[in-house]
Amino acid sequence: MTANHQIGPKAREIIERDKAILATSYNREYPLVVDHALGSEVWDVDGRRYVDMMAGVCVLNVGHRHPQVVDAVREQTDKFWHICLHDFYYPQAVELAEKMAAIAPMSGHTRTYFGNSGTEAVEAAIKLAMYKTERNKFVGFLGAFHGRTLGSLSFTASKAIQSGYYQPAVKVFHLPYANPYRPLLVGKPGEDYGDTVVNYLEDEIFRSKLHPEDVAAIVVEPIQGEGGYVVPSPNFFPRLREVCDKYGILLIVDEIQSGVGRTGKWWAIEHENVEPDIVCFAKGIASGMPLGGIMARDEVMAWAPGAHGSTYGGNPLALASAIATLDVIQEEGLLAKAEETGNYIMDRLRQMQANHPSIGDVRGRGLMVGIEFVEDHETKKRASALRTAVIERSFDKGLLVIPCGPNVIRMTPPLNISRDLVDEGLHLFEEALTESEREGLAVAGD
Ligand code: PLP
Repeated sequence: MTANHQIGPKAREIIERDKAILATSYNREYPLVVDHALGSEVWDVDGRRYVDMMAGVCVLNVGHRHPQVVDAVREQTDKFWHICLHDFYYPQAVELAEKMAAIAPMSGHTRTYFGNSGTEAVEAAIKLAMYKTERNKFVGFLGAFHGRTLGSLSFTASKAIQSGYYQPAVKVFHLPYANPYRPLLVGKPGEDYGDTVVNYLEDEIFRSKLHPEDVAAIVVEPIQGEGGYVVPSPNFFPRLREVCDKYGILLIVDEIQSGVGRTGKWWAIEHENVEPDIVCFAKGIASGMPLGGIMARDEVMAWAPGAHGSTYGGNPLALASAIATLDVIQEEGLLAKAEETGNYIMDRLRQMQANHPSIGDVRGRGLMVGIEFVEDHETKKRASALRTAVIERSFDKGLLVIPCGPNVIRMTPPLNISRDLVDEGLHLFEEALTESEREGLAVAGD
């Protein structure tokens, strides 16, 4: 894989040593060996520079090493690094929880639990839903990614390699996601596909397979991330909310990838005008420091002391980073900027569509942008090899983008990326696409 790439000798040496000593489960997209990074740019160990349009997989929402975040973490390193939030108190946890409550996508008094990662956030949500409802069955979605520990993995259904070898720990019934570009279910003529999916749950699944009174929660991404950056059909969330209210089921939204301003609102669920019962967050919250958790209204967050916890969860360094990250998003107006830059990127990509028939669909919200590649607009046959070629060529040209779903590229730069860097990135992307399409034609014509 490294042989044909534009990388230098130091990168090659590190990759050789890595291959000999690290676990075989790491699944690298391309041979990027990072030396340092700043804002929306990354440099490798041989001094090659890259425009970062993946932000460490939606983690660096205010960019690499934002000075305000660096200062906050540095200050905290001079105070204390660890004491265990489960057993003692500290002000940083209160301050961040108060900030989270102020931006929560639900009304009423909201409490926050802090863990260390996305998957732990989902584990906490699953456990809280079981605790609160005294039920133990769940509904999830095909294409979903919720993490890799056994509870969250029971919901993950985006790639068989991730879950196919393991026994699910939680009983989950998987429905199709309300993907308007690739509907799996057939609805009535003119019906919103969100209605089709939720009707299927209510009319078929609840009748034939699952008592709704046994279902603790529906776990769902407001925009499907690893599954292909799928923005759901309009009626999907309002109907899910309706079903949850009708049967006493909790609505858990996984905002681990879509949250903390990425879509132009604090939380992607706000685009749906629906209030969730539990919100899972991680990734963008602490700019790369390990932090995740859940928010829920008082009456849902009903745990007795000791019913859940963690040694490291809510580590003070991560909390300091998160407090500063939220401040930067607010002070620099990054919600509006994410929306504006995202619309600019999507407009430019849609213009490219005219000259690049392999672009089947451009979609997203704010800076959660997906580009789906097809061989043919009618059949929508997935152009997966082309998609991968574009990513690899982009890397060689100096642009970092990553895949999602079987044939989608995601563009998720930091929310504060400059227009110049966006233009540079889009230019490199179009060059990579043009050359990959041409190469594909040459092969086909041989
Ligand atoms: N949920 C979603 C929507 C994600 O995108 C991810 C990670 O990509 C996770 C959960 C798992 O997060 P982590 O890798 O921090 O465990």
